Amino acid sequence: MAIVSDPDLSFAVSSLTITIFVFPSAAAAPPLIQAWEVRLAVTVSGFYVRKMKTLWGSCNPRARTIRLNTELAKKPRACLEYIVLHEMVHLLEPSHGPKFRVLMDQHMPAWREKRQELNRLPIGHEDWGY
Ligand SMILES: [Zn+2]
Repeated sequence: MAIVSDPDLSFAVSSLTITIFVFPSAAAAPPLIQAWEVRLAVTVSGFYVRKMKTLWGSCNPRARTIRLNTELAKKPRACLEYIVLHEMVHLLEPSHGPKFRVLMDQHMPAWREKRQELNRLPIGHEDWGY
């Protein structure tokens, strides 16, 4: 599994150490991804961490890559794990149809609560502190 920095970011992030320093969410993700690779019997070829305005994560089932929002670093670890699992389940089922929900129920029975928790907060909220 490769850790890939986002080419859209204006600064170069080339090493794992720097990636984890800049994005703490990146540090928590690899062990979660590895654990779920075993449980789901899938392989992830890489993951990206990037700023996104409308998504917590996304999956490219053909390239077998997942993308995580940098904002997940500020959320409870259980929420990060929910997004990791959600994106990895897309490797088995690209849609959000019944098969997807069955797989989520099977592997993380409380996933709806975690989704609700994430949806309570806007993505990319900035505290300007004035
Ligand atoms: Zn999805």
